[in-house]
Amino acid sequence: MTVRVRFAPSPTGFLHIGGARTALFNWLFARGHGGQFILRIEDTDQKRYVEGSLDDIMASLRWLGLDWDEGPDVGGPFGPYVQSERRELYRQWADWLIENGHAYTCYCSSAELKQMRKEQKENKDRLGYDRRCRYLTAAQRAEREAAGLTPVVRFAAPLEGTTTFHDAIRGDITYANEQITDQVLLKSDGLPTYHLANVVDDHLMQITHIMRADEWINTAPLHVNLYKAFGWEQPVLAHLPVVLSPSGKGKLSKRDQAFQEGNDLVLVQVREYKTNGYLPEAVDNFLTNVGWSFGDDVEKFTIREAAPRFELESINPAPTNLPYSKLDWLNSQYIQEMDDLALAQALKPYLEETGYEVNVDSLLAIVPAMKVRLKRLTDGNEFLRFLFDDDSWQPDPAKLRHNRLVDPLDAFVRSRDFVRDVASFTVASVAEGLYAIGEQATDTGKAGPLLGVLRYAVTGQQASPPLFESIVALGRTRTVERLDDCIAMLQ
Ligand code: GLU
Repeated sequence: MTVRVRFAPSPTGFLHIGGARTALFNWLFARGHGGQFILRIEDTDQKRYVEGSLDDIMASLRWLGLDWDEGPDVGGPFGPYVQSERRELYRQWADWLIENGHAYTCYCSSAELKQMRKEQKENKDRLGYDRRCRYLTAAQRAEREAAGLTPVVRFAAPLEGTTTFHDAIRGDITYANEQITDQVLLKSDGLPTYHLANVVDDHLMQITHIMRADEWINTAPLHVNLYKAFGWEQPVLAHLPVVLSPSGKGKLSKRDQAFQEGNDLVLVQVREYKTNGYLPEAVDNFLTNVGWSFGDDVEKFTIREAAPRFELESINPAPTNLPYSKLDWLNSQYIQEMDDLALAQALKPYLEETGYEVNVDSLLAIVPAMKVRLKRLTDGNEFLRFLFDDDSWQPDPAKLRHNRLVDPLDAFVRSRDFVRDVASFTVASVAEGLYAIGEQATDTGKAGPLLGVLRYAVTGQQASPPLFESIVALGRTRTVERLDDCIAMLQ
């Protein structure tokens, strides 16, 4: 059997980090089992459609590296992969269910249903559709059709007994059938509900394993009964553990935008992770730990490494906090692994977004020295301001002095002259020369005081990359100009 799994988002919003976890687990399972990962768009609830969400979902999945084998853009043997393009199929299967006694047309108007609910409440009866159309005679149906009523199609659910299904993560789950009402399968506009479309497509697309959010667990009995009615083999079901906020205080799925929790700004949409300077490798790694663990105390791993170990049985069913505290650490680890050119190129768009004009070559001079200090790619914006924004360079003259410096002005003049005249303008020779000047500038022969003050002078920042690299990145002319200005301030 070839494993075939799917991620089936509805385009009702941008890709949520919880949705990305569902996609990722499906992807891991497919890749670990030499199977296929299918992207299917469930857009039959057109009222909830959000402009731009389909593009965002696909772009976010791609950014995370979760490539799909079949889907709306790449096609495949079981297409189309967008449900609104498959209406005819659902209609046909709804008709099949009616012809075979598993479904019926229901003509109740919304006013009628409202009245029914009101009476149920008043009489303290069980709420839910009372099946009044299930028992209409052929003549009564014909009458309603003749009156021009457009029906919905409802499933004729079993009236007695129980429905049991096996969840690969949670074990056997049993529901009493009297709790299950006759759900609508096809709406009066001819479009299917989630239940019908989902079951029909999972069958026709030969899905073998369904991994989906825990919130769908209550729909499983209906789906299981639909598979039975159709006489189709039911895929393996697995409902993924609930994702909680980092503090464990609430369900993450209830949030649709970044929110503050304690000191953390908790990001919710995948695109927010990107704009906040996280690398997809770090987000993938972090998300893989939500309800699953690599084992052997290994916390940092790629999803390619995780895939061969990924089994449904090893998913922990308990609700899991989003392990937010690990994210910055993972991200800094992945940043340190990048080669200099890749990191310079990765920093560039963030700097440009800030309005800086970026030259990758000058970035390259500084990248090796700041790699270990970056938690996020956005950290470069603040850290490298001195390099890209001359206007913001406004050092405080009081901070250009240090009580260990015998003659600050003289030390600055000598430093400026050295930078202006040094033949080879490299990190090594700039370091050598400025160390020598610094050692002469104090009574103790220590270069530290001058080097610290120069770093502030050249960058205008308290937090900045190291001095020599900063000077080389800034270039000879700009460094000399800044030191000239500092000398004027000291005079
Ligand atoms: N369209 C559903 C959603 O947006 C998919 C649920 C499923 O995977 O069956 O979550």
